Amino acid sequence: MGDRVAVNAVTPCWQCDNCQRGFSSQCTQPLGGYKYTAQKDGNLAEYFHVNDAQANLAPIPDDVSDEAAAYTTDMMSTGFKGAENAAIPLGGTAAVFGLGPVGLMAVAGARLLGAAKIFAVDCVPERFKLAKEYGADVTVDFKKQDVVAEILRLTGGKGVDSAMEALGAEPTFENCIKVTRPGGTISNIGYHGHGDYIRIPRLEWGLGMADKTIKTLLCPGGSERMARLMSLIQAGRVDPTKMSTHHFKFAEVEKGLNLMTTKEDNVIKPVIHFT
Ligand SMILES: [Zn+2]
Repeated sequence: MGDRVAVNAVTPCWQCDNCQRGFSSQCTQPLGGYKYTAQKDGNLAEYFHVNDAQANLAPIPDDVSDEAAAYTTDMMSTGFKGAENAAIPLGGTAAVFGLGPVGLMAVAGARLLGAAKIFAVDCVPERFKLAKEYGADVTVDFKKQDVVAEILRLTGGKGVDSAMEALGAEPTFENCIKVTRPGGTISNIGYHGHGDYIRIPRLEWGLGMADKTIKTLLCPGGSERMARLMSLIQAGRVDPTKMSTHHFKFAEVEKGLNLMTTKEDNVIKPVIHFT
């Protein structure tokens, strides 16, 4: 048996101009950035090639399970980066819109980074329960409540310092702008796969003068970041395996992937086990 290692969904080359400028997720090389997961064949096989492996493979510590380590490859790295980009002031307020695995990790990240009050927006009870376990103080059900009015009410009309969009929907993005106070940061984590434009609500944007910052991101990779994420698991700061709702054998991989499409059976994250 060789060493247990994890590889992130994003595998930068660490040599191109974007990598060297500190934006390794935007790597321009043929198999760099997201292309490792999205375009390279074979990465669900028993054996596969990892480009720039010396910088992208991370050893898994003995006391971190395979299942927990798997979460560092995307959900933890992306969700935590969403919280990092949100520039949450110590003791500040944060809102996370969309409580899928990445949104839940944004909640956990906001907690770790020192938010004093975290609002978690979704409509699924199981997700609310996990959000509370990961550090959310208040859950807001968008099917039952006016999300913007409720968050403004609970912040004394001020709005939050930081809002994170972890869904990839235009109304949600607009709500993020609306609940963020002047000088605050909107951190986009969601994948906006449809339409030509994303609208910014003009008045809540202060007519372009509200000092609000919008930041975007793609999952950060690299062995150094992976090692730090695994350190958080080792230290008991976060247990990502709480998000594992379904388990499949490798022969059932299609069932797992279908579940991610249909979102049936209250799925949060299905785990595929090779052995
Ligand atoms: Zn690169």
